[in-house]
Amino acid sequence: MPALPSLFVGHGSPTVALDPTPAHRFLRALGARIGPPRAILCVSAHWETAAPAVTAAERPATIHDFRGFPDALYALRYPAPGDPELAATIVERLAEAGIEAGTDPERGLDHGAWIPLLLMYPDAGIPVLQLSVQPALGTGHHLALGAALAPLREEGILVMGSGALTHNLADALGRLRAGATATSEATPDWARAFEGWVAEVVEQGDLEALASYRERAPFAATAHPTEEHFLPLQVAAAAGGGRGRRLHRSFEFGSIGMDVFAFPDLA
Ligand code: ZN
Repeated sequence: MPALPSLFVGHGSPTVALDPTPAHRFLRALGARIGPPRAILCVSAHWETAAPAVTAAERPATIHDFRGFPDALYALRYPAPGDPELAATIVERLAEAGIEAGTDPERGLDHGAWIPLLLMYPDAGIPVLQLSVQPALGTGHHLALGAALAPLREEGILVMGSGALTHNLADALGRLRAGATATSEATPDWARAFEGWVAEVVEQGDLEALASYRERAPFAATAHPTEEHFLPLQVAAAAGGGRGRRLHRSFEFGSIGMDVFAFPDLA
C-alpha cells in the first residue's frame, strides 16, 4: 500500500459546511481525490488538553461547539464510527516515541474535525479519531507528535491537521457582526504576508523555520494571537516528512485562511 499524504485543512467558520465558497467546493472534491483511507486521525484546533489524548468512543457524538450560528448547522450530524483499538495503538506508538498520551472514551468529534470531513467524506463510513493539541507545549512538541504519527500513513490512516493558516478571531468576528459574508471582505495585508511566508517555508520543507514562526514570520502574533489553530499544521507537516504542497488557497471573512496542504503531495 503506498503511503497516504498527511493533510492540513483550514476549517474556517462553521458556515463553510453550507456556504458554497471556494474552500467548500475544494473540500467537497478532495475526498474523492485521496480515496477512502482505513481510518482518519484528525488533530483539531478545537480540542486542547494538557497532555495528548486520543478519542476512543465506539460511536463518537457530533459536538456543536459554536454559538450564534444558523439553526441548520446545529441539525448537522457526522455519525462516523470510532475505533477504540486503533486509539490504543496510537497511544502505544506515541509512547514508543517518548510521548505520554491517553485515551478519552467519552469525547466526540468537534467541528474542526467533522465539518471538513462532512464535505470530504459525506457518507461518514470511515472511522474517525481525534488527537488533542497542547498549546502550552509549543511547536517543537507538535512536530514530535507528527513525526511519531508518520508510520500510520503506511497503514492507510489519514493524518489530518485541522486549523487555519491565519486565525485572528477578533478580526473575523468583527466583520461577521458587521454583516460580512464569507466572500465579501478584502484580505488584510498582514494575512497575505503571513500566509505567503508559511507557504514558502512549507514548500521548502523547512521545519526549523516553521517551528520558530513566531520569531521569523511577518505578523505572526496578528495572524495567530493564540497558537491552537496553527499547531495542527506543525503536526501534519512533521507527519508528512516536512515538505508539502499547497492544494488550495482562499480566505473567508477577509482574514481566515482556508489553505489546504498535502505532505508531501497528493499521490
Ligand atoms: Zn476553528
